[in-house]
Amino acid sequence: LIPMGVCPSATMFLLRDNFTGALARSEVLTCTPWGAPIIWDGTFDPDVAKQEARQQNLTMGLTVFAVGRYLEKYLERFLETAEQHFTAGQSVVYYVFTERPGSVPCVALGPGRRLRVERVARERRWQDVSMARMRTLHAAPGGRLGREAHFVFCMDVDQHFSGTFGPEALAELVAQLHSWHYHWPSWLLPFERDAHSAAAMAWGEGDFCYHAAVFWGSVAALRGLTAHCVGGLAWDRARGLEARWHDESHLNKFFLLPAKVLSPEFCWSPDFGPRAEIRRPRLLWAPKEYRLLRD
Ligand code: UDP
Ligand code: MN
Repeated sequence: LIPMGVCPSATMFLLRDNFTGALARSEVLTCTPWGAPIIWDGTFDPDVAKQEARQQNLTMGLTVFAVGRYLEKYLERFLETAEQHFTAGQSVVYYVFTERPGSVPCVALGPGRRLRVERVARERRWQDVSMARMRTLHAAPGGRLGREAHFVFCMDVDQHFSGTFGPEALAELVAQLHSWHYHWPSWLLPFERDAHSAAAMAWGEGDFCYHAAVFWGSVAALRGLTAHCVGGLAWDRARGLEARWHDESHLNKFFLLPAKVLSPEFCWSPDFGPRAEIRRPRLLWAPKEYRLLRD
């Protein structure tokens, strides 16, 4: 269980939820065993959500890492499509973390939207770049991000927005169903099973596999979650261990009861082809080009 601090605006928002019901999508699972809504297209009213977020004058922080060749390859399209689709018309602060601030592309931003660039060290291995994000994300709210944003979205850069993405997805802590695994039985999910790892999950533990490419919540809730992941990663490193899916394994270990879960429609890969239950994808993965991008 994750200790959650209370962010006044997050709590206020939750009191007036916009989940319009499971009936609209009877063919898919719309509620977790612990009672959190699973947000599918058609189960929420986007206009109500938008209006409520605007009334509360919320600022969204969107953090993204672009280290090494990921910067030139993905960052511009990620930011440009975020300007089109990510909480349009609302106050947003993008936080780009990179080792080369001077190479961050200039993207035209709408009113009330800002971009901040923060320098991070370049780790040698891609696994370390990915895992180091947890440390940075844990420290960042201690600075400007924590003062500026009510909610913080953490996203991979190797994807782009393809549909409205925003207030309907707000809650104290939100997880994204991994689109590889959403229809798999839980015993098959690729959790860390080495009992020596801090990310180890017992058989029977864990209802869903969450994708580290997208998670978010209130500043306080994320501080709690990232603290656990940072601790777990350090525990493993001290023992010469590395969990199967790196930071994602730790995220799955410590992300036990998110307040909202997003359907795979929110972070989908075009490579999977059309599927009846996937109506309107919101984020699309870029094709994986690991040989070109990773050292
Ligand atoms: N990343 C990066 N440079 C790297 C490796 C990773 O900037 O050399 C960041 C980037 O934001 C990327 C995320 O870490 O989207 C996770 O890595 P990746 O997308 O390669 O992992 P996958 O989604 O394939 O598991
Ligand atoms: Mn990725």
